[in-house]
Amino acid sequence: MTPLLSARGLTMQYPGGVTPALDAVDLDIGAGESVAIMGASGSGKTTLLHCLAGILRPTAGLVSFASVQGPVRVESLDDGERSRLRREELGFVFQQGLLLDELTALENVAVARMLAGVPRGQAEAEAAQWLQHLGLAGLEQRRLGELSGGQAQRVAIARAQVTGARLIFADEPTGALDSATSVEVLDLLLAATQQGRTLVVVTHDADVARRCARTVVLRDGRVVSDTAAPAAAASAAEVSR
Ligand code: ADP
Ligand code: MG
Repeated sequence: MTPLLSARGLTMQYPGGVTPALDAVDLDIGAGESVAIMGASGSGKTTLLHCLAGILRPTAGLVSFASVQGPVRVESLDDGERSRLRREELGFVFQQGLLLDELTALENVAVARMLAGVPRGQAEAEAAQWLQHLGLAGLEQRRLGELSGGQAQRVAIARAQVTGARLIFADEPTGALDSATSVEVLDLLLAATQQGRTLVVVTHDADVARRCARTVVLRDGRVVSDTAAPAAAASAAEVSR
């Protein structure tokens, strides 16, 4: 079966970098998979995620994505098509940056639909449903800056899903949360994969990786292990390096 996302020879050389941040990475991710990306700080996890998601253009290599509109080459998309993918097919849950503190929870989710051309009323109705589904009923009108870290991550997960995204990228989504809240947030991300979505999650947390179906470990921009869950002892050793 064709993978949902496929990278070949993915290489990223930042200007001024002595060695490439990503060095000829090959990776296939199937629809419905949950994949943890682990590795020491600086091993290239965020760079890999950003290249896979079309946020960064790699200096070499290719990324194929099985879009609903047919196969696309993510690394060579023009800005318009890249934006369409990000609006309609990809979801993002990052530690910070995508949500706006001064907007309400409802507005933060609804804006993702409004960017796709959905009228405000309908966008807000859909947003309210997702917020309720994620346990945030009653908090719709709170500004994001007034929510706890765990509540804010739930808003991010609602935002990632309201568009119908089939592929969700998360970068250290639980990095700023206490352990009980981390478990809840991960549960919500994994629940999305039960509904056929695909999850690629960068994490330092072996507990997070253990619950994903597969763990890919990077070292110095290369894949050094790629194993079905539970995360192999090798990956735990790698991460504590
Ligand atoms: P990780 O997410 O695993 O901590 P990153 O992908 O952020 O790793 O970084 C991988 C390597 O690339 C590191 O050596 C880092 O210093 C370097 N790097 C990351 N972003 C940039 C950038 N914008 N410019 C130059 N070097 C960068
Ligand atoms: Mg990182």
